Amino acid sequence: MQKDIEKVLVSKEQLEEKTKEIGKQISEDYKGKKLVLIGVLKGAFVFLGDLVRNIDIPLEIDFMAVSSYGNSTESSGVVRILKDLDLTIEGKDILIVEDIIDTGLTLSYLVSNLKSRGANSVKICTLLDKPERRKIDVELKYKGFDIPDEFVVGYGIDFSEGYRNLPDVCILKEETYSK
Ligand code: 5GP
Ligand code: MG
Ligand code: MG
Repeated sequence: MQKDIEKVLVSKEQLEEKTKEIGKQISEDYKGKKLVLIGVLKGAFVFLGDLVRNIDIPLEIDFMAVSSYGNSTESSGVVRILKDLDLTIEGKDILIVEDIIDTGLTLSYLVSNLKSRGANSVKICTLLDKPERRKIDVELKYKGFDIPDEFVVGYGIDFSEGYRNLPDVCILKEETYSK
């Protein structure tokens, strides 16, 4: 696996420090609220796991899996729910936990979908942001790192279901994609 890595973009140490910082901020901002973290599967599972252990207020956790219609590299904004929530979210304060915001189309759909279910508030926490790629404006309450328009893997994020277990966020060597 290591041999396929071209470059480490965000290191394990940076990720550790950032999840601590965001977790602390969430703990302050959501004190006394009915916080529900919703992880977007599968990419956000590592980030969510690190984040919750740095939040010291009561919370609930749920997951959604969505698939975006469109070609393999770009989402279309039409989103299909593959796995819906188990919890009811009416009156609760929702924080969507996402791996990467790219065009913003998936998140924009999710926010309005969750709002329509009567949540008290719906905000976004994303680990990575590719601002250059944005097609629709989405408000990010918490953000880990801005990254350039490059395809990344690791720390939960995959290429063809592989590389999710890399501890850093990395860029793969060109030849890996054509294997
Ligand atoms: P969008 O914001 O375009 O609707 O969709 C963003 C989603 O596309 C991310 O949550 C992630 O699942 C996927 N994505 C965007 N950029 C990358 C990337 O560099 N690597 C991987 N593996 N997935 C990405
Ligand atoms: Mg995602
Ligand atoms: Mg993927």
